Amino acid sequence: MAPRPIIVWYRNDLRVDDHEPLRAALSQGTAVPVYCFDPRQFAETPEGFAKTGPFRTRFLRESVADLRESLRALGGDLVIRHGRPEDVLPALAAELDAAAVHLHAEVTSEETDVERAVTDALTPLGVTVRAFWGATLHHPDDLPFAIADLPEVFTRFRGKVEKRSSVRPPLDAPATLPSLPQIDMGSLPSPAELGAEEREPDPRGVLPFRGGESEARARLEAYLWQDDLLRVYKETRNGMLGADYSSKLSPWLALGCVSPRRVHDEVSRYERERVRNDSTYWLIFELRWRDYFRFICAKHGTRVFQRGGLRRLDLPWRDDPELFERWRMGTTGYPLVDANMRELAATGFMSNRGRQNVASFLTKNLGLDWRLGASWFESKLVDYDVCSNWGNWNYVAGVGNDARGFRWFHILKQAERYDPDGSYVRHWLPELAGLRGASVHAPWELPRDDLERAGVRLGEDYPRPVVDFHASIRANERVYEEAAP
Ligand SMILES: Cc1cc2nc3c(=O)[nH]c(=O)nc-3n(C[C@H](O)[C@H](O)[C@H](O)COP(=O)(O)OP(=O)(O)OC[C@H]3O[C@@H](n4cnc5c(N)ncnc54)[C@H](O)[C@@H]3O)c2cc1C
Repeated sequence: MAPRPIIVWYRNDLRVDDHEPLRAALSQGTAVPVYCFDPRQFAETPEGFAKTGPFRTRFLRESVADLRESLRALGGDLVIRHGRPEDVLPALAAELDAAAVHLHAEVTSEETDVERAVTDALTPLGVTVRAFWGATLHHPDDLPFAIADLPEVFTRFRGKVEKRSSVRPPLDAPATLPSLPQIDMGSLPSPAELGAEEREPDPRGVLPFRGGESEARARLEAYLWQDDLLRVYKETRNGMLGADYSSKLSPWLALGCVSPRRVHDEVSRYERERVRNDSTYWLIFELRWRDYFRFICAKHGTRVFQRGGLRRLDLPWRDDPELFERWRMGTTGYPLVDANMRELAATGFMSNRGRQNVASFLTKNLGLDWRLGASWFESKLVDYDVCSNWGNWNYVAGVGNDARGFRWFHILKQAERYDPDGSYVRHWLPELAGLRGASVHAPWELPRDDLERAGVRLGEDYPRPVVDFHASIRANERVYEEAAP
């Protein structure tokens, strides 16, 4: 008698390579890969933004389509459904007489709630649910401490992990897949069916960001091998303009189109075959930040989403919708902030340097609730990763476990350092294109003649600063110091 099939429930792991739930299912018989478009992912955030905005909707649909292609090329297929996994999977399990459901575990509340609902629905049917871990570089079983004892400071986490843990080699993709039973395979829902909007990113963006495992591997190949950019990553990673300054792997890592272990494996090969230097070390260092936020979320549960953050700091954040709107739309009058916010709105991407600056500006200058910013990022980012997003926001807002007092970014100094000739700002703020060099970073400081010559009417073509930079920092610092123990 043929073994009963095992359903492989795809989530944020849209790949064939390095996929333990798939490999384990195959070792026991027939694997039936399934992806569910969960309507809850296309609802609104509490702040009223589309939970999955137009760029990520497109990226997700492309990634699912690519996964189906890859599975078909190996002889299998992908079942696609539009519905809640706790409804879809039991129905499918009954139809297939499945023995088990395999999945990659997540750590944050919405995701674990779904996992629990799926388990509750499947258990009475006699279907086993088996969760695997595949989201991080380091497997939790290989950490030199239990998650409950995870160090609260990244440097300590990194030090211990670098000394006393190693990264498992990735699992290869299966060479072939068994054909699937005769069931309705389902089709890719259109954006309209999902109740979502889908948009092509602005051609001014750093990359077109096409979803899928094939595209992930192509980007890895280009960044490491073809263009040899990894060699200089440490020196270039703080850039903001163009495809080359950092790996841009984040959207594919977030949806699991490539695993961090595969990236690690390729970097190790690059170190053997090309060069091993500070840059190769630094890319892996950044992936450890990614691990760290995931493990921190696993340790602290929903605290990362709460107003007081991981530190439970009761700060009197301001409630000023108009001010927030100016930040969101990129009309604060601070060109570095505005250029980054407009890049995000137009493309779904922003550099790490940009993210740190705009998050600092929202919380340390405008004094607005950091969760508004995190929620806007959740909606817009093509690389949205629940742990990296909310973890980084905690950190920059000063409510993270690792927060070291009231730290803020000096927007003008940052602009002069990371956009010395102003080309990034001019790229995204065409109304300031007539301003030469670094003068574009502080138009309010320019003589009226210079502004006139550049065709800029301050307050009409481009706003005056929404707050005084230093006065706003001082005021918010006082508030923070009073609230922070
Ligand atoms: C406020 C804020 C919100 C953020 N939200 C997200 C998010 O939703 N999703 C996301 O993937 N990253 C997020 N980041 C982290 C970081 O900005 C992006 O990972 C990075 O800009 C992606 O570009 P890259 O792939 O070229 O990065 P690279 O510099 O090439 O780094 C390689 C990889 O390391 C990881 N990484 C790098 N920096 C960080 C970091 N600070 N924290 C966690 N992982 C990191 C990413 O997976 C990245 O792809 C956020 C940072 C801030 C300050």
